[in-house]
Amino acid sequence: MGIMDKLSRLFTGAFKHTSAPQSSFDSNAPFDSDKYLAANQEYTDAFCRTFDLTSIEGIRSIDAAQLDEWKKNAPGVPSTPVQILSKQASSYHSSKQMDLAIECLRKVNELYDYDKFPYRQNDYLRLVRYLRDAKRFDEAREEEAKIQARFGHKDETLPKDSFYINYMEDLIRTANVLNTDLVQASTAPNCCELCGKYRGRIFSLTGRDKRFPKLPDDFHLTCGLGLYAFVYGASTPLYVKGDLLTESKKPFVDSRTPEEREAYAQRQQQKTIDATDRDDYAWLQEFLPDLAPKSFGGYRRMKNLDSNNYKTLKVRAAEMGHPIGGEQAET
Ligand SMILES: [Zn+2]
Repeated sequence: MGIMDKLSRLFTGAFKHTSAPQSSFDSNAPFDSDKYLAANQEYTDAFCRTFDLTSIEGIRSIDAAQLDEWKKNAPGVPSTPVQILSKQASSYHSSKQMDLAIECLRKVNELYDYDKFPYRQNDYLRLVRYLRDAKRFDEAREEEAKIQARFGHKDETLPKDSFYINYMEDLIRTANVLNTDLVQASTAPNCCELCGKYRGRIFSLTGRDKRFPKLPDDFHLTCGLGLYAFVYGASTPLYVKGDLLTESKKPFVDSRTPEEREAYAQRQQQKTIDATDRDDYAWLQEFLPDLAPKSFGGYRRMKNLDSNNYKTLKVRAAEMGHPIGGEQAET
């Protein structure tokens, strides 16, 4: 939904404005898992009484931009709006109420945009998978193209237009409050080559502070690196090993250990396999619906077992010009 749509819907009062209850859970008391679960359930129930998750109209009328209070008061992650709707989608999927399941996920994707948590392309694509499960193939293709366009490419990364911008805005706000131009980049194991160059340093946000390098434009938050406002002489350099100035200014060379590189390469390889399997399963659902297993999990199992049914699928798919299992078409 575009910003103008959002605004006009706000003005026409199409959205329901409701305030969130306070949770009964005392997060300062020693952790009691029964109380925690009960508080989450109670909060989820309150959410479901306030918002109608049983009709398409009801789900649509939830205003993703107005749920800050619901997010803030939730006693735990399981009862945040995004998780409630996400779980509701799974439940509708299991009971074959696909229209409702899909509507929940549309709302979930909208909610992702307002969250501080980094959601990945794969999270957004769950909607596309549900559309295919519902045999709404054209819509699935359209939605998939939109999501991929937003992420810029097929690889798993973060949308520049929401999470990254929100994150940077927050960071700059905090830095301004602290009256600093410096940020600390955290470290992450098994990150990519780029993060391997940037992790564990102090950067200048604007380039004003010449003692430190300017925060690079291609810094990304996909691999688990974070940026934290840093006050020179006051903040603890949690992630910088050694002298701040020397460490931050050293040449930008990939600092990963061979083990970290290997772990990253393996993860990438697994991601490629996962993506191929997803693509193949989507194709089978549409073009060999009678032979395709009922679920993606089922497809993965038959593929890993290399069962006879899988071999049949392979032959049929190849005959139709779409070899599956990562094999190249003969040219
Ligand atoms: Zn990275």
